[in-house]
Amino acid sequence: MTSRQNVAILGATGSIGRATCEVLRHLGNPFRAWGLSAHRDWKTLLKLAQDLKPEEIILADSQVGIESPNHLPGGCRLKVGVEGLEALASSAEIDTVVAAIVGSAGLASTLAAVRSGKRVALANKEAMVVAGPIMIAAAAESGAEILPVDSEHSAIFQAMQAGGREEVQRVILTASGGPFLRASKEKLAEVTVEEACRHPTWNMGRKITIDSATMMNKALEVIEARWLFQIPAEKIHVMVHPQSVIHSMVEFRDGSVLAQMSPPDMKLPIQYALTFPKRVDSPTLRMDWSKHMRLEMEPVDFERFPALSLGFEVARVGGTAGAVLNAANEAAVEQFLAGRIRFVDIASVCRDILNHHTFEATPSIQRLAEMDRWARQEVLKWNSF
Ligand code: NAD
Ligand code: MG
Repeated sequence: MTSRQNVAILGATGSIGRATCEVLRHLGNPFRAWGLSAHRDWKTLLKLAQDLKPEEIILADSQVGIESPNHLPGGCRLKVGVEGLEALASSAEIDTVVAAIVGSAGLASTLAAVRSGKRVALANKEAMVVAGPIMIAAAAESGAEILPVDSEHSAIFQAMQAGGREEVQRVILTASGGPFLRASKEKLAEVTVEEACRHPTWNMGRKITIDSATMMNKALEVIEARWLFQIPAEKIHVMVHPQSVIHSMVEFRDGSVLAQMSPPDMKLPIQYALTFPKRVDSPTLRMDWSKHMRLEMEPVDFERFPALSLGFEVARVGGTAGAVLNAANEAAVEQFLAGRIRFVDIASVCRDILNHHTFEATPSIQRLAEMDRWARQEVLKWNSF
């Protein structure tokens, strides 16, 4: 790692973006928030800019007018429009890109960062789900380091430091189980938006909160792990762990299992992705070893959480399946939040659209974008299947 660490935070106003700003404030020199982006929330963007004094801020949605650009700190440029994201991600000034945009909207800028050989702190799991093989090949070519921010993948990455890649028997992703871990099938059929938005252990953006409730989040994470660690789907396992303290585990060929633990706080994996291979003091909560604690593990109920099976299926076949599942899910979550489909329909609509898409094994990035658009349109037509 060079001494200078200019950081671009794409999606700075979101849950991960704001946590990253806190981590940067804590780390201080040589880390510097050089560029920040937001989609529409210019008020939060300006506040972050006043606090962190970046060189550049980007408001991605050009339809939104900033009402008080005079609140920009001196020397800070404002760019409007989505094109600015890729330019910032690949700028020669930038060392590390924190990819914290939600959904496949983050794919182009994440890929631009990878292609330009940056350190990429990857929160935007959807980019890996949609285009994992393209992303990994681009990193091999450019020398980019893709370091996971997702807590499970950070845990696996940390545990993997204990042995060689060929010594890994399997990885075990933990899942909190979300708000409906104990809900009956009947209850799941009538879940409201408000109930689905309440996560028991993590405070996150809306889309990932719904994904956690359906367990689609874990499905996306299985696919993310498949590409990020180049590990076949058969070697990926999921266990429910309601306390969210063990963030994931790696089982080695000798039978030893290494887990990474901490209270649930995304600032820790974010900081690790920024400072790796170093560990430095962090502003996160600590385990309280003076108290009794109970850490539980149980297998997943695939019948009540059918979304998870889709993740394993897509991790096995690859190709266009990741783009289709991801886009169908993004659109279905929007439909659910708008009250147009039921909670349980999210997995069903994804299953149907995945089943009737025209599979391709090695799609180009353009083809993936087409499949993304197609799947979103299919969700809107879904009732008429
Ligand atoms: P969020 O909704 O809180 O924030 C999303 C950010 O992306 C915002 O800054 C928003 O302005 C920006 N954005 C949204 N749509 C955009 C678009 N079309 N173009 C450009 N920018 C856009 O989301 P989040 O919870 O911070 O999640 C961000 C990513 O991190 C997701 O991929 C999520 O899966 C992943 N992640 C989040 C958590 C968590 O604890 N929140 C944990 C693990 C992984
Ligand atoms: Mg996660």
